[in-house]
Formats: sequence, structure tokens, C-alpha cells
Amino acid sequence: MSQNITDKADAAEARTQETRGFMQQVRVAARRKYTPEEKVRIVLEGFRREVAVRAILLTHYHFDHIRDVATIGLSTAYSPEPIEVCAPQVVLEALAEHLINGKLYPNFQQWPPDSPSLRFRTLLPHKFCQVIGYEVLPLPVNHKVPTVGYQVKDRQGKSLFYTGDTFRGLSRCW
Ligand SMILES: [Zn+2]
Repeated sequence: MSQNITDKADAAEARTQETRGFMQQVRVAARRKYTPEEKVRIVLEGFRREVAVRAILLTHYHFDHIRDVATIGLSTAYSPEPIEVCAPQVVLEALAEHLINGKLYPNFQQWPPDSPSLRFRTLLPHKFCQVIGYEVLPLPVNHKVPTVGYQVKDRQGKSLFYTGDTFRGLSRCW
């Protein structure tokens, strides 16, 4: 095996170990159990809109991942601030062309006219960005259509990775 191939294999193995470590951290963090009272409180906060949705990250344009954007746009009409819909350009184009297109649903980027419900924002793969105070890194993952997962980090440095739909080879996305 040449040195170059050995280096690449070592780098790949390091990335795999790093991903395993990260996944272990996620598993530990996700083990937290909520009491029934906490679960009820979280659901009620959502119903009462005490915790407003300010931004949405979309991974890809399959219908089960984008359909709720339309009803969210409808239910938040006349809110003072638009919800930021963040996604790769191809996803935003599919939304604008096929769902919130003025036929199936209003074009929420322009409706209601005085305060549109949604504002689209294109995110670029491998480019860090800030979304409502969180550091977000979109990373391509393996799926049938162009798809990204999101590494999301808060100001305290806590982070999660949301994969969306994916398949084998997830560790290569870093
Ligand atoms: Zn999918």
C-alpha cells in the first residue's frame, strides 16, 4: 500500500472514530427522560404558541419533509415577523414551484401582502451560517435526492446533528 493510500485510510479511520464519538455523545444526551408533566407542558407550549417557530431547516424536498411548511405559513399569517425557511436552493425552488405557488397554497413569501408569513434563505453545503443565534453547518448526506444534514450548535457549544433521510456512508459527510 503506498503512503498516500495509507494516509487516506488513516484519515478516513480518524473521521469514522470521530463520528462514532459524536454519535455516542448524541445517544447519551438523548437518553434524558421527560416526565409526563414535562411532555404535557412542551405540547401545550406549542399549542398556545408560547414558543414561536422562528426558523425551519429543511433537509430535502421529499413531500413528507416539506408539506408542513404550507400549513405553518397559513397558521402564522399576520404574525409580526416571517419565519425563516432555510434550505439548499434546490429545496426552496421545489417549494416555490410545487407547493406554496399561489395555486395549492398562497405564495407565503408575498402573502399576506403587509407581512408575508415566510422568508426563504438559501444555505450552501459546507458553509457555516448563523440561524436565529445558532451556528448551522449543512452537510450533504447520502439519499436519493440532494439532501443535507445539519450540525447545529448553540452559544454554549452544545451541538446536535440532524441527518434527515440518509443511508450508509454517513461518516463521510464530514
Ligand atoms: Zn427522503
